[in-house]
Amino acid sequence: MPTETFEFQVEARQLLQMMIHSIYSNKDVFLRELISNASDALDKLRIEALRDDSLGADVSDLHIAIEADKDARTLTVRDNGIGMSREEVVQLIGTIAKSGTAEFLAKLREAGDAATAGDLIGQFGVGFYSAFMVADEVTLLTRRAGESQGTRWSSGGEGTYTLDTVEDAPQGTAVTLRLKPADAEDQLFDYTSPWKIREIVKRYSDFITWPIRMATAEPGAAGQEAAEKGEDAKDGAAGEDGPAAAPEPKQETLNSQKALWARPRSEVSAEEYHELYKHLSHDWADPLETIHVHAEGTFEYQALLYVPSHAPRDLFGQGAKHGVQLYVKRVLIMEECEALVPEYLRFVKGVVDAQDLSLNVSREILQQDRQIRLMRRRLSKKTLSTLKDLRTGRPEDYATFWREFGRVLKEGLLSDPDNRDAILDVATFASTHDAEQPTTLAQYVERMKEGQRDIYYLTGESRASVENSPHLEAFRDKGFEVLILTDPVDELWVEAVPDYQGKQLRSVAKGEADLATEEEGEEAKAEREQRDKDYAGLLAWMGERLKEEVREVRLSSRLTVSPACVVSDVGDVTPALREMYRAMGQ
Ligand code: ADP
Ligand code: MG
Repeated sequence: MPTETFEFQVEARQLLQMMIHSIYSNKDVFLRELISNASDALDKLRIEALRDDSLGADVSDLHIAIEADKDARTLTVRDNGIGMSREEVVQLIGTIAKSGTAEFLAKLREAGDAATAGDLIGQFGVGFYSAFMVADEVTLLTRRAGESQGTRWSSGGEGTYTLDTVEDAPQGTAVTLRLKPADAEDQLFDYTSPWKIREIVKRYSDFITWPIRMATAEPGAAGQEAAEKGEDAKDGAAGEDGPAAAPEPKQETLNSQKALWARPRSEVSAEEYHELYKHLSHDWADPLETIHVHAEGTFEYQALLYVPSHAPRDLFGQGAKHGVQLYVKRVLIMEECEALVPEYLRFVKGVVDAQDLSLNVSREILQQDRQIRLMRRRLSKKTLSTLKDLRTGRPEDYATFWREFGRVLKEGLLSDPDNRDAILDVATFASTHDAEQPTTLAQYVERMKEGQRDIYYLTGESRASVENSPHLEAFRDKGFEVLILTDPVDELWVEAVPDYQGKQLRSVAKGEADLATEEEGEEAKAEREQRDKDYAGLLAWMGERLKEEVREVRLSSRLTVSPACVVSDVGDVTPALREMYRAMGQ
């Protein structure tokens, strides 16, 4: 088949432009991204080979190889992993499937200045395309395991790419960059320098479980290495023309391959933890919190969990991804293992490594497995207690967490009754007490007025609409605090949580608000009953006139300024909930 030329999808083209014009300040990370992709491809091949022994792929020496050619100014990252079919290359490399890309690009355009744009890239991450920060041409040669033909993809990043069919491609993927000229001003280093490559791999990819090898084929490699170490960064690759000893290609493995989660906490730096997070999550931003668990005893395992600093764009989508991988004795056996954390903690990323599980478990079996259930329980509790500590210890980070993930966490009030109190200890809510500071339920209870029996709340679409609600009036006058609940999930959990510290949760918009009855004495009661009698005729007449619209018309003690308001029955579906059901197509 002849070479064919294709156009990038619009979003892909715009992102590439961004990369070519290099608005992200830390260019070294391109290598991290290519290695991360290679590592994923090796993981996938291992898992696929485990499930399907007819795949016919060689899995005896899975590794990543880095080859630098100083004269040609090329750098190749090669893996013998799963590879890609031609269709996959077009789909995965020619388009950007990441949800929210368009939205992200709009933000970038708004941002205008390069610094903010660079920040945004750091939040979004651009994976493979980051190669164009340092290369003016990128070639990818790949063959999918089990297929006979390979594909060559090549592009200068300017709008089009070419595809060729290749007959004798090795299995896996090789990505070759033609490097832009080194340029001190633009912070472009000489990425063909073994010194520089070693440094980047050590820094960003040391924990990668596959060996990352580099061939140092230059004559007298050992001597040159010493010379380079003594050099400044600006001229790292000097010493090229070393003593003309016999060429002796030397394979060196650049990474220690140590599993971070197996090491004691005290020996792992924050930066190391963060780099593993970035590899696992494909996020470019640091996580908000790291949770490291060493469980010992009869069922031994280690877990390294992360709370991201921002929500993925599809957190509420249908196939929202779970982010925890399951290892058995250092070997990855399942990505996105949803059995390890409950649905409402689906934003947690990380790794669980168990000593004592079968390598061949299926997802279905895992869901039933007693050990897995115990792990999930312990990890849920640990995560919740960590988040509680975050709330008290680092209020700003907690605020970020709650803004990004609070809505998800509250789902647990419905689905995980055992941890209800622990979730409520993490949760905060807007309230009429303070316009800025949200409150916990515990703080609310502490502030409760004498004679106040219940915890009051009002749900609505926004703080403003809730605050303008006539339902609030009497409560405001009495100085009773009301929680302002504006997330759709709030409608649901308030029904599921019967009480907190023995105090009932009551909507101020439903049924008889007990404001009057709570405090009224005999006298007031008699007065109210007399009033009901006096107005019986009027109420009956109004009830008749409005019978299509309302169930009952009655006198109310809840209003002080507005003449009338519509309330729901206890147990009725509120307007916001009706909206939500409608949105869900029910
Ligand atoms: P991400 O890794 O976040 O998915 P990337 O831009 O880094 O995004 O990569 C896009 C996709 O291209 C990957 O998800 C993967 O399917 C495919 N891909 C990239 N590099 C490789 C590789 N070395 N081997 C196999 N597939 C790859
Ligand atoms: Mg990637």
